Amino acid sequence: MTFPNDLTALIETTKGFMPAHEGMALYENAKEFFTGGVGVEIGSYCGKSTLYLGQAARETNSHLVTIDHHRGSEEHQIGWEYHDLELADDHGVIDTFAVLRATIAQSKLTNSISAIVGRSATIAKWWSKELDLVFIDGSHTEESARTDYESWSPFIRTGGALIIHDVFPDPNAGGQAPYLIYKMAIDSNNFVETFALDSLRVLRRI
Ligand code: SAH
Ligand code: MG
Repeated sequence: MTFPNDLTALIETTKGFMPAHEGMALYENAKEFFTGGVGVEIGSYCGKSTLYLGQAARETNSHLVTIDHHRGSEEHQIGWEYHDLELADDHGVIDTFAVLRATIAQSKLTNSISAIVGRSATIAKWWSKELDLVFIDGSHTEESARTDYESWSPFIRTGGALIIHDVFPDPNAGGQAPYLIYKMAIDSNNFVETFALDSLRVLRRI
């Protein structure tokens, strides 16, 4: 199965922070780890990375659950670097949920993706299902990234994947929180790195 052209077109017009080459790598890696189970994405935003993961889920008869409170991360808030006026209401409150729904509706992936609106840690509290993969691309504060890692990595099955975006070993290249949890995972001796491309890292649970 080749990556559908109409999906490529939809991804191009979907707002977000997943460069196409990293997105394709995300898709290829996710296909290897999906075995008919469930994968979780932290940080849906408008659905750009969701489409790559959702297509991988579809091709493997798996399912993607994408999680976001849809109020944006720190850098999306008013006055910050990545604030997008189109995603905020008159009071400056961000809501990306409607956009995510529209993105999923326009894709052919509605049977392969479920969206949950809420805080990652809150959802992890009641979650119990073993996971084929977890993709962490949420808030980049140290506390939030660590919480995402600590609350979701225990659900990854042996042989499953922890995938992290925005990992920058060089502090001059970007924020350090994703790199910190990447190191935590390696240092735990529960994960080995199987793939790296730019800021994308794939770790297999051993
Ligand atoms: N994966 C997206 C980008 C995600 S941006 C893409 O490829 O385009 C990060 C997202 O994480 C934001 O939408 C923000 O609302 C969400 N987020 C931040 N902290 C969160 C938390 N604690 N729980 C759930 N979502 C969170
Ligand atoms: Mg990212």
